Amino acid sequence: MFQKILIANRGEIALRVLRAAKELGISTVVVHSTADADAMHVRLADESVCIGPPPSRDSYLNIHQIVAACEITGADAVHPGYGFLSENAKFADILAAHNITFIGPTGDHIRIMGDKIEAKRTAKRLGIPVVPGSEGAISDEKEAKRVAAEIGYPVIIKASAGGGGRGMKVARNEDDLSVALATAKSEAGAAFGDDAVYIEKYLEKPRHIELQVFGDGAGAGVHLGERDCSLQRRHQKVWEEALSPALNQEERDRIGNIVASAVADLGYRGAGTIEFLYENGEFYFIEMNTRLQVEHPVTEAITGIDLVHEQIRVAAGGGLSVKQSDIRFQGHAIECRINAEDPRTFAPSPGTITHFHTPGGLGIRVDSGVYSGYKIPPYYDSLIGKLIVHGRNRVECMMRLRRALDEFVVDGIKTTLPLFRELVGNTDIANGDYDIHWLEKHLANNPA
Ligand code: ADP
Repeated sequence: MFQKILIANRGEIALRVLRAAKELGISTVVVHSTADADAMHVRLADESVCIGPPPSRDSYLNIHQIVAACEITGADAVHPGYGFLSENAKFADILAAHNITFIGPTGDHIRIMGDKIEAKRTAKRLGIPVVPGSEGAISDEKEAKRVAAEIGYPVIIKASAGGGGRGMKVARNEDDLSVALATAKSEAGAAFGDDAVYIEKYLEKPRHIELQVFGDGAGAGVHLGERDCSLQRRHQKVWEEALSPALNQEERDRIGNIVASAVADLGYRGAGTIEFLYENGEFYFIEMNTRLQVEHPVTEAITGIDLVHEQIRVAAGGGLSVKQSDIRFQGHAIECRINAEDPRTFAPSPGTITHFHTPGGLGIRVDSGVYSGYKIPPYYDSLIGKLIVHGRNRVECMMRLRRALDEFVVDGIKTTLPLFRELVGNTDIANGDYDIHWLEKHLANNPA
């Protein structure tokens, strides 16, 4: 097992990893920017190293500084959290070259899944259902028209290097296609320095359903069920739940078995998430994230498995602690992402939290790095905490969520808590009847 883990992240996820390391008896080092000197992860870690000024590129994305921090402190492994360097293949390779373990997959697996065309090709080869579309990159309009006519309109043009929902354009008919292709290409080039794009069928009313997977890197793979993350705004997840209200056990077993054997065949190591759009009973692969997800606690709630313990264990060569037949799903869990944002406009609301009081009681978990008197720096994302609620069934979970939201107090800044208070009382949400467009439509129909 590792002696000392360096956590290359900040905020709630740095704290999350720190807790897991402490429970395993492993020492912790955190790195931080000058803006985060007062952060909770810095206060609770055994050691901390300031690695630079506030902008992420100079601190949390600064590979040289992070490797130097490992060498100074003698850390033998790095947990990257999510975001920042978590899906940076070069970072994984550099750590390996320094004999420091990257708690995550190999650089090569990160590289394959980071290139969406390559990822889709790999998924298809492994037997995972994909969205019908072009085999590879689309080079010209003629080819685009041919593929679109074959799969049928509407189609979506997506950047191979894409992320965060950027560089995607929908074409409803052949007339739209040339403009959509040109815009997607130039947006992709500007945003990612790579203008390769591909085409796929545009699904009108899908749900976003993702499968949590784990591999031991040596041919074993399991799945830990799905999360339904259909409630999104601008492709950002807002509310996640497990299991999905839309799936039955037979569908879950079918897709679960497919992804678990794909992970095993790939020789994948560590935690991963295979994301699908789900429509009319069919799954369509969109991408694989080769890291821990923000919404991982809903899976922990229904399986009782600590995913970060499992990541550390697998990275240390200890293999998976569970077989597929050991994994049982109990009850229902919902996560609300609490952001320092205006609940209607979603404009960031940095500032000082004058009062912070979290709910408690059975089935409640709050993962947050903030506290009363904490000043939210304006440089990073706006997530200030996650409320995760577990109940024996979805109805109990929703009732518990409602009362937990009533207890939650965050003063001094605007947060998205009022939005969740509204959602928990909505009939469609109560019925689990929503798709990936539901939230944006609801917000448009209910202006402040
Ligand atoms: P990114 O990596 O930029 O987030 P994804 O491939 O994960 O890109 O897609 C992000 C979102 O875009 C999806 O959650 C979905 O809302 C929408 N989307 C992507 N592909 C399709 C498609 N074929 N049909 C309909 N919507 C899509």
